[in-house]
Amino acid sequence: MTTTLPAYDEVVARYEPVIGLETHVELGTNTKMFCGCPTDFGGEPNTRVCPVCLGLPGSLPVANKAAIEATIRIGLALNCSIAEWCRFARKNYFYPDMPKDFQISQYDEPLCFDGYLDVEVGGELVRIGVERVHLEEDTGKTLHVGGATGRIHGATESLVDYNRAGIPLVEIVTKPVPGTGALAPDVARAYVTELRDVLRSLGVSDVRMEEGSLRCDVNTSLNLPGEEWGTRTETKNVNSLRSVERAVRSEMLRQAAVLDAGGKITQETRHFHEDTGDTTPGRSKETATDYRYFPEPDLVPLAPDTAWVAELKAALPELPRLHRRRLQQDWGLSDLDMQSVLNAGAVELIEATIAAGATPAAARKWWLGELSRRANEAGIELADVGATPAQVAELQGLVDAGKLNDKLARTVLEGVVAGEGSPTEIMANRNLEVVSDTGALTAAVDEAIAANPEVADKIRSGKVAAAGALVGAVMKTTRGQADAKTVRELILERLGAQG
Ligand SMILES: [Zn+2]
Repeated sequence: MTTTLPAYDEVVARYEPVIGLETHVELGTNTKMFCGCPTDFGGEPNTRVCPVCLGLPGSLPVANKAAIEATIRIGLALNCSIAEWCRFARKNYFYPDMPKDFQISQYDEPLCFDGYLDVEVGGELVRIGVERVHLEEDTGKTLHVGGATGRIHGATESLVDYNRAGIPLVEIVTKPVPGTGALAPDVARAYVTELRDVLRSLGVSDVRMEEGSLRCDVNTSLNLPGEEWGTRTETKNVNSLRSVERAVRSEMLRQAAVLDAGGKITQETRHFHEDTGDTTPGRSKETATDYRYFPEPDLVPLAPDTAWVAELKAALPELPRLHRRRLQQDWGLSDLDMQSVLNAGAVELIEATIAAGATPAAARKWWLGELSRRANEAGIELADVGATPAQVAELQGLVDAGKLNDKLARTVLEGVVAGEGSPTEIMANRNLEVVSDTGALTAAVDEAIAANPEVADKIRSGKVAAAGALVGAVMKTTRGQADAKTVRELILERLGAQG
């Protein structure tokens, strides 16, 4: 079915979106949630398994304390209450990547609940309610082979890898977020971005969306102003921050087209396609009762000691939003300047460059200027551009010491990015140091004066502004290595003019 989609502006003029986000985070613990199997990414299929994570009869799970601690820290960072007593629950379903036919999860007694995360969108603070943060185990992975698309349709075989089965997984569910209007896609993206930064600052996960350690499902519904919230759909497979934004937008457009035509929205999961940016229907959504949850009989309840929780709370790191605000103040940046630093992904790089000795202004100049330009040209992240904060600080040190001018510094940086060594080494090896020695420059100055008699006359008659042309000529013969200020002084001195 091909429907012409309405324009986004029209959709948000007529409908009000409500979004919600469910995020799964693989914790970076050394071992799995209920057994001692290792958790690192990669590895030959089915080599990191044991009777517990394969769900063999008679095996018994034991909860991983490090995972519980990490989950409580996430809950605290998201301003949640921490349950004084809660239980794991069995979520029953049949799926080949779930060998036990149930997943140990949490149901009506999550470990953390009722919190929030503040995110900034277009300079405004939006508070996203957090319904719950609970702990569960990941499933295995199914691989469909023999077909063109990697999907089950058209595949000749399906393979199952249980290495991922049992890796501790934290599910973070927001409350429904109404009232964001046209900004709904931006709010969704800002939330996942902020959440990722919070998780990273806690050091609980490597939060790599492309490797699946941070996975996001996006709920979207539309309603007419003043009416009840509409039926929501849940979009799966949203594997990048950009896709979070696109998935919400695309689903808003699709739902509006259905509603405009007098149709009804079906409650279902939908799959997001990175290539086309739209969604296609998956299975119709189960309700909680379909899973026949019941308390997990093989595990004791969780009852985190309140003193321990207080200790964890006291030891939380400075959270990203506050950290950014402090940096903005320290660096003396306007909101707009700070935003461009954030957009460039340069916060940590600039921070490290300052720590290595550069001033905030110099650090920002290099990372947002020359290095951002190179990263953009190469289509890579700024952090992968090939220069380290220490090298940038060293380069700026050479500029400050008068050994490099701006142009030479950019040439040295070229060498740094190409892996030729440290700025000092490159400056020496390529003979790029600024020449400010008067004796060495006088010959070049005299040569320039002799070659440009008319300019020289002008300067002699008091038009000192004309000296720029002679400075340029000297810079040219010295391959840009002369100290421009010294050259200018020499020219004026030789021509008897006053600077
Ligand atoms: Zn195991």
